[in-house]
Amino acid sequence: MKVISFLNPKGGSGKTTAVINVASCLARGASVAVVDTDPQMSLTNWSRTGDASASFDVFTAASEKDVYSVRKELGAYDYVVIDGAGSLSVITSAAVMVSDLVIIPVTPSSFDFSASGAVISVLEAQAFNRPVASRFLITRKLEQARMLAVLKDSIAQTGIALFRTSIAQRQSYVKSVFDGVSVFETSDGAAKGEIEILTKEIINTFE
Ligand code: ADP
Ligand code: MG
Repeated sequence: MKVISFLNPKGGSGKTTAVINVASCLARGASVAVVDTDPQMSLTNWSRTGDASASFDVFTAASEKDVYSVRKELGAYDYVVIDGAGSLSVITSAAVMVSDLVIIPVTPSSFDFSASGAVISVLEAQAFNRPVASRFLITRKLEQARMLAVLKDSIAQTGIALFRTSIAQRQSYVKSVFDGVSVFETSDGAAKGEIEILTKEIINTFE
């Protein structure tokens, strides 16, 4: 069992969209549980929207206690994917503590890269206990060379590695989430392709 958390207190960094699509991809070859820790419950609501039911089970964490117990309660799944809360909270610390891999989604258009610093602080505090692997993930990527260069420079300064695969800004992500499905239920081959390669990169971090 591997626990993967998508954490960034900055709302709009693409956490929920990434979780839905990566979990859908993982679920094609493994059993997957997704834990929604956001009080806004966007992922839980998404799972109640779709015509076709999600290919993974969705659990809603009511408090950090639910997050601390995922290794025990959801130990039967191959992967547990945690969708982080929109604001930094005790839930972020709990998620880091139970994770095998922490993914920090960041967008090039956001002027708030510093929000991810809060996750790095939690990771550093946790490292005294048990170090947790972490990676940045660029989401909502636009072909804006200068913006990307600034973002990549900020990431490099943290010393945390960046996934080679990014998630591009695509209408199919917005529409599929609205429809309660993933991009695998759309005809967007580019979106499906990048999620597949990203998911392989994620799995490879465990090898
Ligand atoms: P978070 O969970 O970090 O708050 P969301 O996944 O809910 O972020 O995304 C925030 C907003 O950005 C939503 O309106 C979503 O549709 C949009 N969005 C997220 N990822 C993409 C993407 N790859 N392409 C286009 N829009 C995206
Ligand atoms: Mg969200």
